[in-house]
Amino acid sequence: MCKPDAVERGLVGEIVSRIERKGLVIKEMDMRIPSVALAEAHYEEHADKPFYRELVDFLTRGPVVAMVIEGPDGNTFSLMRMLIGKTNVDDAQPGSIRGDFATITNENLVHGSDAHESAVREIALWFPA
Ligand code: ATP
Ligand code: MG
Repeated sequence: MCKPDAVERGLVGEIVSRIERKGLVIKEMDMRIPSVALAEAHYEEHADKPFYRELVDFLTRGPVVAMVIEGPDGNTFSLMRMLIGKTNVDDAQPGSIRGDFATITNENLVHGSDAHESAVREIALWFPA
C-alpha cells in the first residue's frame, strides 16, 4: 500500500514502477481514503501499542493506494518487504523505497504484509469478495 504520505509527495508512480520493474504483478489497485474502522482493523496487531492512535490517524488522513501484488512463488510478501526496506528509517538501506525516500519512521511511505497469512488477511479486508 502506498500510504498517504506517498500520495501527498507524488511518489505513487515511483513506487508502482519499482514493483513492476522487479517483475511482480499488480492484480488489484484501488485509491481511497480508508475509514477509521478499516485502518484500525488493518493495524489491529498494534492495538495495544502507544503509537496505535497516531498510526490510525496517519493512515486515514488522505488517500492511499491499496494493491494486491502477485509473484511466481509463495514469498511475494518477502520480496515486497525487501523493496520497501526496514521499518526504522535509520535502518532502511539506500536502494529500498524507505531508504531512498523516507526520513521519518512514522511516515515511511509504504505498507507491506509481513507474512503470507498477513497478506491473506489484509487482502480480504481491503478487497472483500
Ligand atoms: P507497515 O506495517 O506499515 O508495513 P512495518 O511492518 O515495517 O510497517 P510495523 O512494526 O508493522 O512495521 O509498524 C507499523 C507502523 O507503525 C510502521 O510503519 C511505523 O510507521 C509505525 N511504528 C512502528 N514502530 C513504531 C514506534 N516504535 N513508534 C512509532 N511508530 C512506530
Ligand atoms: Mg507491519
